[in-house]
Amino acid sequence: MPRHTAKAEPDDPRRRLPAVGVLCSDPRAQAISAAFGAAALAESLRVVLADARGRMMAEGSAAPDAAALLDTAERRLGLKARETLHSVINATGVVIHTNLGRAPLAPEARTAMDVVASYANLEFDLDSGRRASRHDHLDGLIGDVTGAEGALVVNNGAGAVLLALATLAAGSPVIVSRGELIEIGGGFRVPDIVAQSGARLVEIGATNRTHLKDYEAAARAHPEARVILRTHPSNFRITGFTSAPSVRDLATFAHARGMLLVEDLGGGALVDLTPYGIADEPMVQDSLRAGVDLVIFSGDKLLGGPQAGVIAGRRDLIDALSGHPLARALRLDKLSLAALAATLRLYRPPANPIERVPVLRILTQSVEVIARRAAALRTLLATLEGVEAEIVETNSYAGGGAMPMHALPSRALALNSRGLSAESLAQRLRTGETAVVGRIERNAVLLDMRTVDDAELPAVAAAIRRSTH
Ligand SMILES: *Cc1c(COP(=O)(O)O)cnc(C)c1O
Repeated sequence: MPRHTAKAEPDDPRRRLPAVGVLCSDPRAQAISAAFGAAALAESLRVVLADARGRMMAEGSAAPDAAALLDTAERRLGLKARETLHSVINATGVVIHTNLGRAPLAPEARTAMDVVASYANLEFDLDSGRRASRHDHLDGLIGDVTGAEGALVVNNGAGAVLLALATLAAGSPVIVSRGELIEIGGGFRVPDIVAQSGARLVEIGATNRTHLKDYEAAARAHPEARVILRTHPSNFRITGFTSAPSVRDLATFAHARGMLLVEDLGGGALVDLTPYGIADEPMVQDSLRAGVDLVIFSGDKLLGGPQAGVIAGRRDLIDALSGHPLARALRLDKLSLAALAATLRLYRPPANPIERVPVLRILTQSVEVIARRAAALRTLLATLEGVEAEIVETNSYAGGGAMPMHALPSRALALNSRGLSAESLAQRLRTGETAVVGRIERNAVLLDMRTVDDAELPAVAAAIRRSTH
């Protein structure tokens, strides 16, 4: 849209906007009317005219001409007509943002989804022409990456916990520490999942401290108990006077009594993130090495793939889970399966997952790289009037229930528009042609550059121009 900067006097003809009726009978309106309907066009024009009037008042600019008004109305109608679900630019700084679809997929995963979008050998052995299992595509890969004997993947992490407990503990007690009776976003509560599985919850210890002797007392009181469930309190931390047995001690304890240890890790890091300053996220491989019988983790959190629930561990238990009717009810679809397989391949040497898996790349990015991105965006906005764009220090977060306390140092562009409140600027950015989601802090719209890709910068700059214009 052209900018109109010339000041116009009150009775200047440039201040006069055409009426809705005039615009609707404009020859250029016919095609728009045919595509979207005459009533929708009139409605859209009313909004566009009100918008233009507001801008003329605020900026003293001249009236846009009929062609520009019709163009804007058509673009608005196009936006409304598109799918309700579309891509957004994540400038929130929350890396695994559940409301924004969690992990952005690697190009390899996108390609893999495209490849299987038509017919595929999902459950078909091309060699023999016989039926095969969809799980074969993932089992070995997960074994390669985690060292697990066997693996099964279902629709999501919550489903994986449900399936494990329903198979191994239905009708019997499951021992869980009180400090681990957590609720994850979206209504996942450990006590509810235990109840749904048909198992009986036996709570032990105190919120902040649980000792091996608490497990021992529970095992004595419930000799029929077969499963100890350990959950990673992903989205909060109890700090201070706390205690819990190590995974290794708990596994040894469980096995000495003929019990199983099932661990719900939630995030499920497959690489060590401590060299990048992210120290409090347990690794799947460590749990398996410590003797956990089944480790459960999400596909779209730290793994960086599609939504999925991975169960890795003892082969005989995996086989038992695969045979449960819930495994069928919770099975993974071919698109997610293909994307997960492609993502897991990025963990196999010589590939370096930190560079190839977007979530890991974004989490481990240095603040210098982020600062350069912020500077590049600011340069793209250099000629923009009426908007202050300042680079500020801020913190990003992993999100998705991983590393809740871990603030990742970042840089954001803080936007202040002279004519718009932070709320309306943020809303315009969200609802424009390219949706850009930021956050509001101290009356400015903050666009955190950690979660924005370099390739997205021109689109972000264009969105800011359109929103403040
Ligand atoms: C996220 C999470 C879940 C649920 O996983 P989804 O893949 O979101 O269903 C379960 N347990 C823990 C500890 C989690 O962090």
